[in-house]
Amino acid sequence: MSRLSEFDVIVLGIGGMGSAALYHLARRGVSVCGIERHEIGNNLGSSHGHVRVIRQAYFEHPDYVPLLRRAYHLWQSLEEQAGETLFVKSGMVVFGGKDSEAIVGLDACYAKHDLPHERMPAPKLCERFPQFHVPDDAVGYWDPIAGYLYVEKCVEHHARLAIENGAETRTGTEVLDWRADSKGVTVVTSNGELFAHHLILTAGGWSGPALASVGVDLNVTRQIQFWYDSPTLAKFEAPQFPVFFVESERGPFYGFPSIDGMGLKVAQHFDGPPVENPSSLIRDLLPGEETDVRQFLSETFPDLEPKLRQHATCMYSNTPDKNFVVDRHPEFSNVSIAAGFSGHGFKFACVVGEILADLAMIGRTDHPIAFLGLDRFRA
Ligand SMILES: Cc1cc2nc3c(=O)[nH]c(=O)nc-3n(C[C@H](O)[C@H](O)[C@H](O)COP(=O)(O)OP(=O)(O)OC[C@H]3O[C@@H](n4cnc5c(N)ncnc54)[C@H](O)[C@@H]3O)c2cc1C
Repeated sequence: MSRLSEFDVIVLGIGGMGSAALYHLARRGVSVCGIERHEIGNNLGSSHGHVRVIRQAYFEHPDYVPLLRRAYHLWQSLEEQAGETLFVKSGMVVFGGKDSEAIVGLDACYAKHDLPHERMPAPKLCERFPQFHVPDDAVGYWDPIAGYLYVEKCVEHHARLAIENGAETRTGTEVLDWRADSKGVTVVTSNGELFAHHLILTAGGWSGPALASVGVDLNVTRQIQFWYDSPTLAKFEAPQFPVFFVESERGPFYGFPSIDGMGLKVAQHFDGPPVENPSSLIRDLLPGEETDVRQFLSETFPDLEPKLRQHATCMYSNTPDKNFVVDRHPEFSNVSIAAGFSGHGFKFACVVGEILADLAMIGRTDHPIAFLGLDRFRA
């Protein structure tokens, strides 16, 4: 019988998180293999659609801020090695009622963390960005250090640099099963079995069964990103127009300037319809799916006259509390899980990769991730 290929670490899934884990492990000289069902930089999971928002001011939970400080440093370092722009600090405007989740959360975050910002009545911020029409009693925040990441390029550069540092990858290969014991982990793939001392699970929208086995319900949802052309697109072009998040009466919406003439990108930040099987996600736009975004645009940017140019279908992987799971497996100390990024994880991918490398190699990390542990679901 032929010997199994043997690695220190196997990474299951080379998307946003898996590519970063591969990179950090390979840079430490670890023998590591990433397994990916599709191609690297594919548009079938959760890490596609040209750009992702990055910010340090975190209304969702202030404990993310130390991780984001490290993420800013790591993205800058990746960009230097990549030799091309990955991170653009466009600045970001946030509008919402004074009691909205975003504004209350930002008030708390800025009270706890020393981060640059300006808080002002919405009409004053609209003097600076007259493209926006929001209620006069809304609050506006200006975040000068927020911006966007080129999402596919980040994945591709993490993976490419990992390979240059000795990582192996098996693309077009599906992981069918894995078995862990005290000696290591056997990974059963569509192209044979592999063995590693440690397995990292970064399967994105396909993490449901692994999380269910450790007591976490994952709610995978269908999310659409839209790009709009407009006769007034020049007013919405980067760099003069920023990233935005608006908590409107219809719920939260966010968007990006038109970058390189691609059109204004807008999406709704909500739990879309549940996805039963991530592998058969319908990519086409379904009737009525654009309605809320259109209404938001006509209320918020009355001068836009939007014409839909393209859309991309993607998945959120939501945990019950919308915070991530980054932890070692409670039963198998040689298996780590990073999943449930709940629609806001990409900006953390570089630091999650570093944490996963720590967990695989030394069984612990100095990064403050207790709030992302599995214990919180067992209380
Ligand atoms: C519309 C949308 C907008 C978002 N906006 C933002 C934002 O602005 N800012 C932000 O920070 N975050 C944002 N997010 C969230 C962020 O993009 C995700 O949290 C992040 O990309 C998830 O990365 P991942 O590695 O967990 O999943 P993925 O990148 O999907 O990677 C998982 C990979 O695992 C592979 N895989 C799965 N199962 C197997 C198997 N059995 N065998 C082999 N391969 C397998 C898949 O093919 C896939 O490539 C957004 C998400 C969406 C959908």
